[in-house]
Amino acid sequence: MIKFNLKCEQGHGFDSWFGSNEDYEKLHGRGLVSCVICGSCKVSKAVMAPRVKAESTAPDLREKPLLDDVGSNFAEEARKIHYGETPERPIMGQAKIEEARALLEEGVPVLPMGIKPKQVN
Ligand SMILES: [Zn+2]
Repeated sequence: MIKFNLKCEQGHGFDSWFGSNEDYEKLHGRGLVSCVICGSCKVSKAVMAPRVKAESTAPDLREKPLLDDVGSNFAEEARKIHYGETPERPIMGQAKIEEARALLEEGVPVLPMGIKPKQVN
């Protein structure tokens, strides 16, 4: 079974089920496909898949941030989360290499990202 979005000459839009595209073509050729609203036989298939967005399907990270950007408060926030002083959530931000090292030594799970080689002593 296949569902087509149909449209008549008057612009009425409606859905109809057919066994296949061939079935539709056959019935349509005999004038057996008619508008459910006005009964017109001059119907045509509307554009399929109306749910597909024209714009990019990439998830918009700005709408729903995966990571809470805490900026330069990273070390402080990471420590608070580790010790349960603030609700647990994934965070990101900037930390000095010694801060990151201190966190790791305390057992705070941090994942260094984008550290430039020159920052490493
Ligand atoms: Zn119609």
